[in-house]
Amino acid sequence: MNPGTPFDASRIHAFSSGSTFAGVPAATLDDLQGARAVIVGAPFDWGTSYRPGTRFGPKAIRESDYLAADAYRPHLPTGLNALEGVVDIGDVELHPGDIEGDLDRIAATIERISGAGSIPIVLGGDHTITYATATGVARTYGFGEVALVHFDAHADTGETTGYGSLYGHGTPMRRLIESGAVPGSRFVQIGLRGYWPGPDTVSWMRERGMRGYMMTEIEDRGLKAVVDEAVAHAGDGADAVFLSVDIDVVDPGMAPGTGTPEPGGLTSRQILDTVRRMSRELRIVGADIVEVSPPYDGPGAITSFLANRIVMEVLNGLAERAAGVSS
Ligand code: MN
Ligand code: MN
Repeated sequence: MNPGTPFDASRIHAFSSGSTFAGVPAATLDDLQGARAVIVGAPFDWGTSYRPGTRFGPKAIRESDYLAADAYRPHLPTGLNALEGVVDIGDVELHPGDIEGDLDRIAATIERISGAGSIPIVLGGDHTITYATATGVARTYGFGEVALVHFDAHADTGETTGYGSLYGHGTPMRRLIESGAVPGSRFVQIGLRGYWPGPDTVSWMRERGMRGYMMTEIEDRGLKAVVDEAVAHAGDGADAVFLSVDIDVVDPGMAPGTGTPEPGGLTSRQILDTVRRMSRELRIVGADIVEVSPPYDGPGAITSFLANRIVMEVLNGLAERAAGVSS
């Protein structure tokens, strides 16, 4: 371990992080050190529709940690050290306001990580970035070959942002389906609720074969039954799965620090256990955790701490899979 190594070249914005996630070694895109998983920040919030602030997400997620940077931190339930083989390359250099340019920069970064055989774990950023993160992975594994498990209150399948532009945090899944990076039939969405999108978009989603689980169905059938089905669907014919976690899938009572909060979501415990299970049971080739907006966080930075632990549970699931733990 090389704990708490400060970044140098990557400290490009005032909102960039100063040290690595959980004290893992710092690395660079040119030298990923053969890592199994690579943490990278995408401090992007120029695609938000309501409350901004996710540019501060990567920094807050990395810093929501009460253990010393060089602490040994085995996962209590499994005893595994999920940080073995994990490095952090800092944040993608972004140009605030340049949405399309930044999507290109993020996709190119992710493509290089997955092309090197590592699993990118992206700290967002608003959900616009998933058009780029999932595209980067699809360039490595093949357009149409990657399934996408999407945790969110919102479907993010808008034809436009509502103001006519194509790129924003309400449209990334539509863009992925249109480009062919991820076919609609390879989507599984979990946690949907609220009052958006409208019937035209819902019909479009159905025609593309998108699979979705609303919170009402999760309440009726139980989370385990739904996740059993989601795992089977995502794993069916797809040897590569991308995991996208919008923090607003969790109830705003437990995750208030987000831009478009929607009451009535999953609990912290449910999302933690579910992402770990999916990372163990599916071949995850990339993940992002998005929509953490620290300026709106509650007391105690509870949303940022939860996002930090979601990353930890994904890494733990990957470690369990690598160790041959099946369930
Ligand atoms: Mn979203
Ligand atoms: Mn959302």
